[in-house]
Amino acid sequence: MTQELIFLEPVFHQKIWGGRMLESDFGYQIPDGPIGECWAISAHQSGDCKVAKGRFAGMHLSELWSTHRELFGKLASDQFPLLIKILAADDDLSIQVHPDDTYAAQHENGSLGKCECWYVLHAKPGATIVVGQNASSREEFARAVNKSKWGELLNIIPVKTGDFFQINPGTVHAIRGGTLILETQQSSDVTYRVYDYNRRQADGSLRELHLQQSLDVIDYKQQAPTNGTITAIEKNGVTRLVSCDCYTVDRVRVEDTTRLMAHWPFLCMSVIEGSGKVNGQLVARGDHFIAPAGIDVLELTGSMELICSYPPAD
Ligand code: ZN
Repeated sequence: MTQELIFLEPVFHQKIWGGRMLESDFGYQIPDGPIGECWAISAHQSGDCKVAKGRFAGMHLSELWSTHRELFGKLASDQFPLLIKILAADDDLSIQVHPDDTYAAQHENGSLGKCECWYVLHAKPGATIVVGQNASSREEFARAVNKSKWGELLNIIPVKTGDFFQINPGTVHAIRGGTLILETQQSSDVTYRVYDYNRRQADGSLRELHLQQSLDVIDYKQQAPTNGTITAIEKNGVTRLVSCDCYTVDRVRVEDTTRLMAHWPFLCMSVIEGSGKVNGQLVARGDHFIAPAGIDVLELTGSMELICSYPPAD
């Protein structure tokens, strides 16, 4: 049976570090206030996207996952595995780290851990980002935190438009102000905050920190990167950004026509530049959709750029 593309309506989240970029840059209709995150493809309980049109219009993605598993290659997981977001940071995000699946299952009510990756849609000149840290042990890290030696502790590197970063669980990281990022991650909301710049929320309170959990999960042996330049070679418009246990992420550039042969359980697609058609359906920058199982060939025409991702098969 031929399946149609499943277009989703984003869910927006207010954040202390957010702003209005999702409206001014992407043209989304967003709620008032500092909006930092667009959950573009999500079945997570904190932001479960609705299907925008077609035969499943109005259904939540979580519902579609539980009742129509055939659309998703019959994967066995009880939760939709991925979460695709746009992060629009006017100000710095907290210094944070995420657990892996094992730690999260034990300490966070059976939640998934969080492996995430960032494709940089835009970075203002001179922008920087935090990926990794310089302490080689738990004790050394704790000592640096106590003395607020953030400059020495954190691996702060320049970031530019078109960069890519894989953030494995246990990697200390922070997106900083002036960046717009397409994030592909495991469907999880477990974040341990190491430091939040002593910044106060609108009601005067501080956001909670989780130093003990952070110390537990930080990978002290990891080599920190020096930049996010993509080195993979583009083949027929497709650049493999990462393939890990949690997901594979590709950048797809379309000039005229590109054909993709299905080799995934299903494919999450986000148009990040330009416009065109996917199997005859008009799509443009800011659209997010799923090509379900049953679509064997995707024909992309026009002039556009997409980030596409899929989970591993069972
Ligand atoms: Zn994170």
